[in-house]
Amino acid sequence: MVTATLRPTRVRVNETAIFENVQHALAQLKEETALFAVVKADGYGHGLLRVARVAQKAGASGFCVAVLDEALALRQAGFTAPILVLGIIEPAYAAIAAANHVAVPVGSAAWLDEALPHLQDPALPPLRVHLAMDTGMGRIGFRDVAALKAACAVAVANPQAFEIEGLFTHFATADEPDTTYFKLQVARFQAFLAALPTKPRYVHVANSATSLWHQACNGNVIRFGVAMYGLNPSGRAIEATPYPLKPAMSLVSTLSFVKQIEAGEAVSYGATYHAAEAEWIGTVPMGYADGWLRRLQGFHVLVDGQFCEIVGRVCMDQFMIRLPHAYPTGTAVVLVGQSGDQTITLQDVADYSQTIHYEIACGLAARLPRESVAPVK
Ligand SMILES: *Cc1c(COP(=O)(O)O)cnc(C)c1O
Repeated sequence: MVTATLRPTRVRVNETAIFENVQHALAQLKEETALFAVVKADGYGHGLLRVARVAQKAGASGFCVAVLDEALALRQAGFTAPILVLGIIEPAYAAIAAANHVAVPVGSAAWLDEALPHLQDPALPPLRVHLAMDTGMGRIGFRDVAALKAACAVAVANPQAFEIEGLFTHFATADEPDTTYFKLQVARFQAFLAALPTKPRYVHVANSATSLWHQACNGNVIRFGVAMYGLNPSGRAIEATPYPLKPAMSLVSTLSFVKQIEAGEAVSYGATYHAAEAEWIGTVPMGYADGWLRRLQGFHVLVDGQFCEIVGRVCMDQFMIRLPHAYPTGTAVVLVGQSGDQTITLQDVADYSQTIHYEIACGLAARLPRESVAPVK
């Protein structure tokens, strides 16, 4: 993938915001509870290694990633802290995980049986496994105690191959005001825990939303994701948070072309926009190939502290805006962030796009350079 460093469009990542969000989260935790920074999907679009470094500086004692390659990228960069992959890996790659001290989730005895032949090298350390309980997320994990016990038996019978390091579940509705389903999942998790003779080292249930709004059930590790980036996991559903979340990401560009068009003249593919009167139109060098969605036609950006409508269809690599008057090319354009007294948040972009901020942040393409601001030394 080519990163467009010679184009002014940038993702800016405020490292101090990430640092402070982690420190605020840690301050809420009981002393024995650790924080694993969730840095999957290139740190939710903020940059894997940058976020990992800042989170660790702020006190994160481990990392969660989605896929094994992300774990290896952290190891190659020199991170030695515990890493947990959150998705099921193929059993054939168990040895790669073990050799790199990367923990993986397990949701069936069959997975352990299939991984076992790949873990026979006596030079390999045992593979660290976290037993996943499906208490209602319906994604991965054991759905009853008998299945859990059968898997434990396989692991315990093969201590050279497996070390049960963790036990966890994931909540489907921790970010919703209605706690009915959340409580059902907690009860099911308690039943799983009660059925086990010993607890592994890590027992964890909390994503960001759980850590913010259901602190009693944190376990001894939290998997701290979206809130680390300063985004409210509930979107706008639960406004109150125990500490302020400071958004880390902004998105900026500059005007690459400016012109005045006559009343009735059209802009962009399909000629869907016609100027009502003589209008100043600016071109912004970013498009849907960068993750700036085509459905953002009609939304706005900020120029000189003023909202400017996105007119005509968003193209693959460029889009056009209506300016209040002439501005020189090179004038700053803020797509996400602050300009003058006005702000556009990722939540605003998500609302207009009828999705969630998570999807906007991690949908920003690798073509966009990431640049640190307020760096944490
Ligand atoms: C992505 C993920 C998280 C982090 O969720 P946030 O809402 O971003 O805090 C935690 N746990 C699991 C299993 C996940 O997949």
